[in-house]
Amino acid sequence: MATDSNKFQAIISHCKEYGFIFPSSEIYDGLQAVYDYGQWGSELKKNIKDYWWNSMTRMNENIVGIDAAIFMHPTTWKASGHVDNFNDPMIDNKDSKKRYRVDHLIEGHAELMEKDGRLDEAKALLEDMDKLLAKDDFEGLRKLILDHGIKCSISGTANWTDIRQFNLMFSTEFGSTVSADDEDNKVYLRPETAQGIFVNFLNVQKTGRMKIPFGIAQIGKAFRNEIVARQFIFRMREFEQMEMQFFIRPGTQKEWYEYWKAERLKWHLSLGTAKEKYRFHDHIKLAHYADAACDIEFEFPIGFKEVEGIHSRTDFDLKNHQEYSKKKMQYFDNDIDEKTGKPYGNYIPYVIETSIGLDRMFLLVMSNAYTEEDLSTPEKQDSRVVLRFPPKLAPMKLAVLPLVKKDGLPEIARKIMDDCKSHFRCFYEEKDTIGKRYRRMDAIGTPFCVTVDQQTKEDNTVTIRHRDSMQQERVPLTEIKRIVLESTN
Ligand code: ATP
Repeated sequence: MATDSNKFQAIISHCKEYGFIFPSSEIYDGLQAVYDYGQWGSELKKNIKDYWWNSMTRMNENIVGIDAAIFMHPTTWKASGHVDNFNDPMIDNKDSKKRYRVDHLIEGHAELMEKDGRLDEAKALLEDMDKLLAKDDFEGLRKLILDHGIKCSISGTANWTDIRQFNLMFSTEFGSTVSADDEDNKVYLRPETAQGIFVNFLNVQKTGRMKIPFGIAQIGKAFRNEIVARQFIFRMREFEQMEMQFFIRPGTQKEWYEYWKAERLKWHLSLGTAKEKYRFHDHIKLAHYADAACDIEFEFPIGFKEVEGIHSRTDFDLKNHQEYSKKKMQYFDNDIDEKTGKPYGNYIPYVIETSIGLDRMFLLVMSNAYTEEDLSTPEKQDSRVVLRFPPKLAPMKLAVLPLVKKDGLPEIARKIMDDCKSHFRCFYEEKDTIGKRYRRMDAIGTPFCVTVDQQTKEDNTVTIRHRDSMQQERVPLTEIKRIVLESTN
C-alpha cells in the first residue's frame, strides 16, 4: 500500500498508465512543468470545468461568462501592475547554479523540521519568513536562510547569492519584428485570466444590462515562468484558471468577501470531499492589488497546499485601466442610498475575485479519488486501484460489457450503447475476462459497469456493478439509463 509520501508518485504513474496525463512532447524527453491531458484526463478536466461553470453562471442569475483572448494589449499589464510587481524573490546557489524561490526554499526547510518533530521551531521560522516577505526585506530573508543553515539540495552548500526579484511573465513578439528587443511589438502571454474580465467590464455590463452586484466568470489558459516548477501539475508553466470577478459597491467588500469564502468552500464540499481536508490560509503579505486575501488549501499527498485564492481586489484594476486607457470605467448606480436619500450615482466598482486553478483542482480530485484496496482473502492475494471520483466528474459513466463475444450478446450490448451514448459517456468492451474488464474500469473511475449475459436474452435484465462497493445487482435493461443519470447528473 502506498504511504502518503509515495502516494503522490503512485498517482503520477497511474495518470500516465491510464491515459490521464502525459509529459508534454514526451518523445523529446518532455518539457519541464508542461503536461498534456490524455483521453480520460481531458474528459475529467472538462467535467470539472463544466461543474464550476454551471455552478457560477447557471446557479447565479447575476453571473455571466466570457472567453477573452490570451493576448492582450501590452499596456494591460502595466496597468495591472504585473510588469512592475509580478515578481518572486529568488536566490541562486553559487555551487550548483540552481535557482530557488526564497519562500519555497524556507518552506522546504520548515517541512524537514516538522518531520523531525521540531514543530515550534518550524512555526517560528515560517512566521519570521512571512514578516520579512511582507516588508520585502531581502537582506533579512538571506540572513534567515544563513542563520538556519539552509542548504541547496544539489550541492549541499549554503553558498548563496543575494536575493533578487524575477518577473514571471512570458513575452513574445507580435507581427514581423525588426529586432527581438523591440519593446513596441512585445506582447505577454497572460499570467492570469482576470484582466480579460476587467477590460471587458463595461462591454458586459452595458450589453448584458447587468446591475451591481454582478459577476463575470471565465475559464482559460494562463502562463507563468515558474522557477521552481516541480510537483507534477501542481505548479505548471502553462495552466488553466477558472476565475470570477464579482463587481460590488465600494464599502461592501468585507461582507462579499466573507460571502464568497463561504460559497467557494461549499462548492468544494458539494463534491463529497471530507471537510477536514480543507482549510483557509489568510495572507499576511497581500498582493499589490488586494485589501484582503486568503487561500483555500487542500491536504494533497504533498501536504496542505493552495488550490484556490479569494481576493478582495478593491477598485485597483478598474481604476488603473481607467487611468492608462483614459476610458471611464464607472458604473451608474441608481439605487437609493438610505443614508442620503439619493442615488449612489457614479463610481468605480470594487471587486471580489475567486480564482481556482483547474489543474490543481484536477490534482485534488485525483488525490481524493485514488485508492489502493487490499481485497485478499485467506485463499487468494488480491488488490485493486480504484478512482473513487464523484460520479458527476467521472470521465466515463458506464461500461457496457457482453460476457462473451457470441450468442447475440454483443448485439444487445450495442443496443444499450446506442440508447445511452447520447446521454452520457459510455465505453464498450468485449475483450478479456469480465474480472479484468472491471478492474480496468475501476482504474479509470467508471462508476457503473453493466454485463450482458445469457439470462439477459431470457428476461431482459443485466448485472449492474457499482464501482465503490463492487456490489452487483440484477436490473431490467430499461432501468440502466435512469440509474446512471440519477447518480451522475
Ligand atoms: P502560488 O502561491 O502557489 O504560486 P498564487 O497565489 O500565485 O499561487 P494565484 O495568482 O492566486 O496563485 O492564482 C490563482 C490560482 O491559480 C491558484 O490558487 C492556483 O490554483 C492556480 N495557479 C497559480 N499558479 C499556478 C501554476 N503555476 N500551476 C498551476 N496552477 C496555478
